[in-house]
Amino acid sequence: MFDFLETIINEIKSYFVTENISYEITGECKKCGKCCNYMYSFDTYTEKEFKIMQFIFPAYRRFYIKGKDEDGNFIFACKYVTEDGLCSVYDKRLEMCKRYPVKRIYRPMKLHEGCGYKVEEKNFKDYLKKD
Ligand code: SF4
Ligand code: SF4
Repeated sequence: MFDFLETIINEIKSYFVTENISYEITGECKKCGKCCNYMYSFDTYTEKEFKIMQFIFPAYRRFYIKGKDEDGNFIFACKYVTEDGLCSVYDKRLEMCKRYPVKRIYRPMKLHEGCGYKVEEKNFKDYLKKD
């Protein structure tokens, strides 16, 4: 239960607090639809917790539980992704969808295999090197 409370707090913080890891992003979207069909959550543990998240954050009501990975983590999908892997509400997609993959994020992220983007974590030394 404590972990779940931390999840909710982190979620709220993500709306207001500047994220603390920066990435360099290169490449482009290949429109495979994997990121809308296979979303992983490493901190939502039960269906009940997911329902609570959807209650607190109505934007998440577009997501549903698709299954679990081999480690027991939920895999979510969006009900608005088409069979072709495209967004059927493109003009009204969430801010998180518009920003994907994000340049700054609270936790390290991984992209789906075959994704057209490449992300590299940036640290202070990287910025010094560029200048
Ligand atoms: S997984 Fe990558 S390439 Fe595929 S739709 Fe998402 S952003 Fe585009
Ligand atoms: S709203 Fe569109 S872009 Fe966002 S997850 Fe759903 S299908 Fe993908």
